[in-house]
Amino acid sequence: MLKNTLNFEQLENKKVLSGIVVAVVDSGADINHSYISSHWWTNPGEIVGDNIDNDHNGYVDDIHGWNFVDNNNDVTDGYGHGTAVSGLASANNVDSIMVLKFQNNQGVGYTGDAINAINYAVMMKKNYNINVGVINASWGGTTGYSSILYDSIKNANNANIIFVAAAGNSGIDSDLSPRYPSCYDVDNIISVGSVTSDKTMAGFSNYGKNSVDLATWGTSIYSTSLNNSYGYFSGTSFSAPIVSDAVASVENSNPSWNISQVKSYIFSSVEQIESLRDRVMTGGILNNSLVSSVVQTFKVASTPVVSVVSKPASVVSQPSTSVPIINVETLNLKSLKGWAFDGSKPTSRVLLKVYVNDTLVLRNVSASIYRADLKSKLGSGYHGFNIKMNSRWLHNGFNKVSIKIGNHEAYSNTIYK
Ligand code: CA
Ligand code: CA
Repeated sequence: MLKNTLNFEQLENKKVLSGIVVAVVDSGADINHSYISSHWWTNPGEIVGDNIDNDHNGYVDDIHGWNFVDNNNDVTDGYGHGTAVSGLASANNVDSIMVLKFQNNQGVGYTGDAINAINYAVMMKKNYNINVGVINASWGGTTGYSSILYDSIKNANNANIIFVAAAGNSGIDSDLSPRYPSCYDVDNIISVGSVTSDKTMAGFSNYGKNSVDLATWGTSIYSTSLNNSYGYFSGTSFSAPIVSDAVASVENSNPSWNISQVKSYIFSSVEQIESLRDRVMTGGILNNSLVSSVVQTFKVASTPVVSVVSKPASVVSQPSTSVPIINVETLNLKSLKGWAFDGSKPTSRVLLKVYVNDTLVLRNVSASIYRADLKSKLGSGYHGFNIKMNSRWLHNGFNKVSIKIGNHEAYSNTIYK
């Protein structure tokens, strides 16, 4: 297995060794970082800065990826999460990073933008022969199953792209409380939890015999940080890209392998850990021979030279009852029914905004006219809604329906007319 024996600083300005691309769907990357700038993917079909979409893929001057927040080619990271993830996802020096920004500079991202980012990576592989081998998703939420997000991951699966997802930082059994995207049932998903340096599950890490595949290092991990610096990071967000980097290494050494061959190689080589037997599907941690020496160095650092920065896996949709959640029970051409709940204001009525095909069709829908029986379950106040669909909102074919509470997109789905 190809593996570098250098540290991050020695990898600065060093060209990567193969054509495998890891699409990092995150908050962007520090574009001026000496390490990142030599490890990102460059679109061979695009001419820089001529304001022309040279490769006709629908994105003008998409040199290193795309910013789906502002819909432009500026993938600068103002948050730091994506920069740290990108360093780890390329630490074996066998892959370059496609920077797909869907989280803003506060680390907030919307499901719709994540879907567009995934679709971009799949399109570049299918239509432009870019060798995207992995999509890294260091984000998720405990509610908000989105069939559109599911479909985009399924499309990635069909394009032979592995989808590595952080298991989440709630310290819970995700077999019982599934979160997405890590818990979708698609073959290409690898769900990753975190262990501490003594190989036991980190207290913050989600686990699940059926829903978390394996674990790897996740506390005080040294990686690239904003302003051309390095720092220490903790969370499953930083375990996922260690696995993405390993997947890229395996794909690089075995270019003819399909998803199931790559996954079975990684899963069958995990180091079995007794205490993880009932916590993760494979019963162990990523084999250290697949972890770059850059990442392993954290274990010998007696004390971090930089203070530990702990950042949670960032949130798409809503992670807990402290923020608004929506559960839709019926969606068809006639009606949209369900319930909404704002945990920070449990006794207030909840106001919804309804979008069809990204156009606002209803604002200030009060969630108070359906399912008053939820009062006992969710506390006082009224939480149900029953929205009559108007055929004028819908065009023939697939229509995207989404609901927001404030600026939170809490639900998204499609219906066919
Ligand atoms: Ca283009
Ligand atoms: Ca151009």
